[in-house]
Amino acid sequence: MSLHEQIHKKIIMDNLKIQEIIHKQRQFFQTGQTKDIAFRLDKLRILKQLVKNHEQEIIQALKADLNKPEFEAYATEIFIIKEINYAIKHLKNWCRPQKTGIPLEFIQYSAQIHPEPLGIVLIIGAWNYPFQLIIAPLLGAIAAGNCAMIKPSELAPHTSNLLCKLINKYFSNEYISIVEGEIEISQQLLAEKFDHIFFTGSTSVGKIVMMEAAKTLTPVTLELGGKSPCIVDTDINLENTARRIIWGKFLNAGQTCIAPDYLLVNQAIKKDLILALKTTITEFYGDNPAKSPDYCKIINEKHFERLSKLLNNGKIIIGGDTNPEELYISPTLIDHVSLADSIMQEEIFGPILPIIEYTDIETPIALINSQPKPLALYLFSRNQNLQKHILQTTSSGGVCINDIALQFAVSSLPFGGVGNSGIGSYHGKASFDTFSHYKSVLKNSFWLDINWRYAPYKGKLSLLKLIIK
Ligand code: NAD
Repeated sequence: MSLHEQIHKKIIMDNLKIQEIIHKQRQFFQTGQTKDIAFRLDKLRILKQLVKNHEQEIIQALKADLNKPEFEAYATEIFIIKEINYAIKHLKNWCRPQKTGIPLEFIQYSAQIHPEPLGIVLIIGAWNYPFQLIIAPLLGAIAAGNCAMIKPSELAPHTSNLLCKLINKYFSNEYISIVEGEIEISQQLLAEKFDHIFFTGSTSVGKIVMMEAAKTLTPVTLELGGKSPCIVDTDINLENTARRIIWGKFLNAGQTCIAPDYLLVNQAIKKDLILALKTTITEFYGDNPAKSPDYCKIINEKHFERLSKLLNNGKIIIGGDTNPEELYISPTLIDHVSLADSIMQEEIFGPILPIIEYTDIETPIALINSQPKPLALYLFSRNQNLQKHILQTTSSGGVCINDIALQFAVSSLPFGGVGNSGIGSYHGKASFDTFSHYKSVLKNSFWLDINWRYAPYKGKLSLLKLIIK
């Protein structure tokens, strides 16, 4: 058999396997077991055990994929235990049907909104936080009473393998199943009918996902990326600002969807800020960040090459060191970039931070508003009028004032994009909502049956007009 025939045969086999699992999941969902609140709580507790019992393996897989420090593994991936706890705590409340008000003419009726699971949901993950970006939507799917099919990113193979091992160990595949593989597997999955697709990844692939979903009229949540700006005003605590920016930018070596993509700095403070940023980089990662145990690597050669080319933009003021063998790019600040440079045309998604100065705040606002809507927008300023002005004049998935990235960690805040940065949101109750259908239920009784709506209509219009008025 030729290689081509072998690949073709494998694709057919994978397809049959996927269809068989979906069929089994549909049958399991029909039994109604996943709707039971006790069942959901039990499975959320099992998910928590999955994370807790395998912390060391998770840390090792993340180390192998991204050279992720143990601290970051806990802070940005294993922290998901907190989200599971939040769902366990609030689930009964979320599941409760909500009574709604009714107008006077519906006096004998009752109206309620019942959340119900959607069915079988597909979760496709990205590689940058490869564990958490699967478990976070999964816990929402479980809480809302669904079955789930998972496809982790093939670019973080150690975490993908581990997820596969753990999901198969802790869950039956008629309930939660996982398939690993390249883009072809995602494409095969997208060709099947699901009841919801939750996708985390790039805006360009998000468009493909939505196109495929449209063929079966499947709703989507798209958690995408983009260029998240960070405005720095003069009215700040310089040291705190520098520390928060450097932490948020170089966490995971800048491979974070909500990392500040570029700085927009008031000219009056630019020189001082740059000095503080440079000092902070050395404070955090030492004179040679390549030796730092606290600094990640770039995920693969393709992204390393892409990022290395971006180093040719503007003037490097610190960093710019690379080592292809280690997939290492040092924390880098770049000055004097132009908006036409490639670094300002694409999402950077790596440890390079361009700095652009402004004198009038309306200039950065106009720049932000001329670009696709970002996933996050950051503002450093004590000035409350400026804070209000930025909130009113810009649009973004989320905003964090005087800090970076922590909007992601607050369960009561829905997390998601707008426009090119995504559709829909999750975290906390928003995760439950995303994977639920809110069913409107109106109930009548038999103690009253007013005649006003029934034919013959003669003589009844004036009453109807009175109600409508
Ligand atoms: P990606 O879009 O390349 O891949 C994401 C997933 O899509 C992978 O599982 C991959 O197998 C699959 N995929 C890739 N090409 C496909 C195709 N043609 N058809 C079907 N499926 C396909 O994204 P990535 O490189 O893994 O992640 C980086 C991007 O994700 C960045 O833009 C980042 O901002 C964004 N991101 C967003 C969030 C968020 O929460 N909003 C979180 C992390 C990453």
